[in-house]
Amino acid sequence: MSYIDNIITSIEKRDAGQPEFLQAAKEVLESLRIIVDKDSTYEKAGLLERLVEPERAIVFRVPWLDDSGKVQVNRAFRVQFNSAIGPYKGGLRFHPSVNLSIIKFLGFEQIFKNSLTGLPMGGGKGGSDFDPKGKSDNEVMRFCQSFMTELYRHIGPDTDVPAGDIGVGGREIGFMYGQYKRIVNRFEGVLTGKGIGWGGSLARNEATGYGLVYIVEEYLNKKGDSFKGKKVSISGSGNVAIFAAQKLFSLGAVVVTMSDSNGYIYHKDGINMDTVKDIKLVKRERLTKYAEVHKDAVYKDAGKGRVWDIACDIALPCATQNELLIEDAKTLTANGCKIVAEGANMPTTLDATEYLISKGTAFFPGKAANAGGVATSGLEMCQNSARISWSFEEVDAKLKNIMIGIFGSIDDAAKESGKPGNFVIGANIAGFRKVAKAMLDQGVI
Ligand code: NDP
Repeated sequence: MSYIDNIITSIEKRDAGQPEFLQAAKEVLESLRIIVDKDSTYEKAGLLERLVEPERAIVFRVPWLDDSGKVQVNRAFRVQFNSAIGPYKGGLRFHPSVNLSIIKFLGFEQIFKNSLTGLPMGGGKGGSDFDPKGKSDNEVMRFCQSFMTELYRHIGPDTDVPAGDIGVGGREIGFMYGQYKRIVNRFEGVLTGKGIGWGGSLARNEATGYGLVYIVEEYLNKKGDSFKGKKVSISGSGNVAIFAAQKLFSLGAVVVTMSDSNGYIYHKDGINMDTVKDIKLVKRERLTKYAEVHKDAVYKDAGKGRVWDIACDIALPCATQNELLIEDAKTLTANGCKIVAEGANMPTTLDATEYLISKGTAFFPGKAANAGGVATSGLEMCQNSARISWSFEEVDAKLKNIMIGIFGSIDDAAKESGKPGNFVIGANIAGFRKVAKAMLDQGVI
């Protein structure tokens, strides 16, 4: 049995109850065959055994008082996966589905994503099964304070720097930062996604969505094409989806769909972003409201249709993991979709990914396509360390350069591996090389 097959068999046994982690790990391991099979250094150094095992995984209890005075208890995690190239870096997710498997898959992906940015950041991820939806601001604050009362001892500006993710936006980062500062009595860059005026970076909020658009734009430009007149279908209506859509409209594309966990909207002439922002960012309401405001838009319940049923040139899944299935991949291809770029982490199942690639779709995996968020978090860390603030334009220009650089490295790695145009293999190999070299250089740790 080959080294890679041995590793796959061993994680299947050891982490049998962690389907999302196994899915993410297998995708990366399969891509690495091309280089690992040729070089016994990796096996001798036990490099892959180390790569699939987090350096540390912390599980903790978060007790908090709800508005009625009752004590609630949630479970929380911080998985510090790999610090070979820098302090652990990766978001915090608050969603009822959160468990160790999901946090491990996200932390594992983060290792390669952070490496691709070219910035010195290791991989980590955390979160809780707490659901901020329907909670008052005071309840969210009490939860965040209790969460940080345990987390603070495991993080630090040179150790581990968390950010936001699903369910964790500016409000939650603010509450957690306030509690951290109160406990340690230091004003330091321990979280990213902070507010402007207290250490946050301009353009961090927009970065993941903008970065997603920049990498696809670079691909189009290289082919002498552009976004002008392209029909784009987006899932999700959160941070990533909203800013991707906004940037797309500014480049002449027409975004025709968005969704939330209850259903999707289809607006033939283009989604109105002011309405979406008002519903999702200001009022924190459901997307059903959109069709009440725009009578020519169609709303479909999640049970009654899929956002991927709508014909488009480009599809950007920006909601959550495993939301684009094999049937969706077939529908998209049949309807003429030529590009799929993942704004979310692992939104496309393995079989759907393989199908899309086999049909010649340009497929951009999340670890490359959504790396703009963590890249700009890295830029926030730089500004915090230097105690300076860059303008929106400066940060945006650096972000664009990073995304162009990522396209170059995944495109080159795909070509060097004999799989031109396969950006899954390209991203995994390009991300892995730098981390593997650092691990080998640093000895058996
Ligand atoms: P938000 O919480 O801002 O938005 C998430 C969106 O996805 C919402 O519209 C939400 O709908 C929808 N959604 C969440 N869970 C589900 C589900 N189970 N089924 C259907 N829809 C769902 O999160 P972000 O936009 O920040 O994150 C979206 C994705 O992008 C995640 O995979 C995240 O890991 C990834 N990502 C985010 C980065 C960032 O900087 N924020 C960076 C890199 C990746 P509803 O409102 O109904 O919950």
